[in-house]
Amino acid sequence: MKKKMNIALIAHDNRKDDLVRWVQSHKSELLRHDLCGTGTTSKRIADATGLSVKGYMSGPLGGDQQIGAAIAQKEIDMLIFFWDPLTSQPHDPDVKALLRIAVLYDIPTASNPSTADLMLKALAFSE
Ligand code: PGA
Repeated sequence: MKKKMNIALIAHDNRKDDLVRWVQSHKSELLRHDLCGTGTTSKRIADATGLSVKGYMSGPLGGDQQIGAAIAQKEIDMLIFFWDPLTSQPHDPDVKALLRIAVLYDIPTASNPSTADLMLKALAFSE
């Protein structure tokens, strides 16, 4: 496994606080990786943590599709996507497409903090 991973971070609106909290509590581990995310999520995380997060477009405006394309181009190694299980999203087809591409390209994907914790622990263990 690579030492420096390209990690994509995305959260739907009702889960952005959870993702920001998760990133804050893993800031020291995440510092050594390259982070990117959809527009609003990446800005929220960068503002709250001071981490550098490359921002794609906002999810509903094409950001999910951009991240899917980056996965297909082997530019992303890990996806942390806190999607909302309680609210339907206007861009649901894009969300589905992104999750499909992540499975197709065998990208480790976390949709909740406990899975994201395990993925980071696995990274640290493999080092
Ligand atoms: P956002 O997009 O970070 O721009 O809010 C996330 C999403 O809804 O996919």
